Amino acid sequence: MHVDLTGRRAIVTGASSGIGRAVAEGLAAAGARVVLADLDAEAGERVARDLHGCAFQRTDVASRDDCRRLVDRTVELLGGVDILVNNAGLQHVAPIEELPEERWEHLIRVMLIGAFLLTMYSISHMYRGHWGRIVNIASIHGLVASPYKSAYIAAKHGLLGLTKTVALEAGEKGVTVNAICPAYVRTPVVEKQIADQAKVHGISENEVIERIMLARAAVRRLLEPSEVAAYALFLCSDAASGITGAAQLMDAGWTAR
Ligand code: NAD
Repeated sequence: MHVDLTGRRAIVTGASSGIGRAVAEGLAAAGARVVLADLDAEAGERVARDLHGCAFQRTDVASRDDCRRLVDRTVELLGGVDILVNNAGLQHVAPIEELPEERWEHLIRVMLIGAFLLTMYSISHMYRGHWGRIVNIASIHGLVASPYKSAYIAAKHGLLGLTKTVALEAGEKGVTVNAICPAYVRTPVVEKQIADQAKVHGISENEVIERIMLARAAVRRLLEPSEVAAYALFLCSDAASGITGAAQLMDAGWTAR
């Protein structure tokens, strides 16, 4: 499907790597101008340099000031914000009694409070043009749980609540708000998890993928970042203007059983 986003102005967080990078590249290829935001300035600058009409802004989405600056700079550079993709995220795997309190708070701050702040600061710009798209990259862990990931799972469940609430507020103002909920996607974070788990369990990396990561999946492979980006691009299209407040499953059949 061809999506034309010429003239649209977008912010993508966590855009230096993995899914965020693929989404930023997809939006730019569809004609949008994108401000890529991430903690990792070196990689982010490199990605942005190759994308026509795009820029990088170093941003810690756990910081209220950085979130405010990101939206202000986008408006200054591009004249407004039409698309916001809340994607920045990280994982911490530990039993609840061992999860450091500050770490728990940090994950909530990055994946939930950051998404709230960026939504809050940018939505009035979307209302002004009576057109907007907010795509929150949640996870299958926004809908179901696994042990040892309490902070991540609480943040992603919260992100679905934020998605639905803002969708109800924004529906009559031309703005849709959706969450994409992928199962395992082949990104640097997951590749590291595969290597770590192979060491811990004393099995091969292929066995980690087959026996641990794909145990519940019907499509027995990791998803690619480009597949998530294609879904995000569709949600930003005019064809998706009737889709809002929804958790868009991309779980390879994980929750079908
Ligand atoms: P990734 O590590 O490749 O990319 C995450 C990016 O977020 C990195 O560039 C990192 O620097 C950035 N980031 C982290 N903390 C930040 C902060 N405080 N401020 C700004 N940027 C920050 O990981 P990914 O797999 O591409 O993950 C992207 C999103 O997709 C995350 O929200 C993740 O939870 C979600 N997700 C990933 C998978 C998967 O299997 N890879 C599955 C479901 C959902």
